[in-house]
Amino acid sequence: MLAGSFGKAASEQGVSVSGLMCPTCGSRDVININLTLERGDRVAFYSCHRCDKKWWNKDGEDVSLGNVLNMAKRSPQARKVG
Ligand SMILES: [Zn+2]
Repeated sequence: MLAGSFGKAASEQGVSVSGLMCPTCGSRDVININLTLERGDRVAFYSCHRCDKKWWNKDGEDVSLGNVLNMAKRSPQARKVG
């Protein structure tokens, strides 16, 4: 009898914490990977298991994969030659 109320609360929490939903198919079967690029840019990668959509987010804004790659490429001083 305890499992009923506890289970409900736990699942509701899980949904609100992640809050991830695929913008294409509406599925919540979405994974999130947070990355910090070499220059300190923090980006988040999302992938939907249902429709295989993948997208990126930086500081709460959608960014394209091209933008992420550009940010990752720019490493003016950290580049080692030898
Ligand atoms: Zn999807």
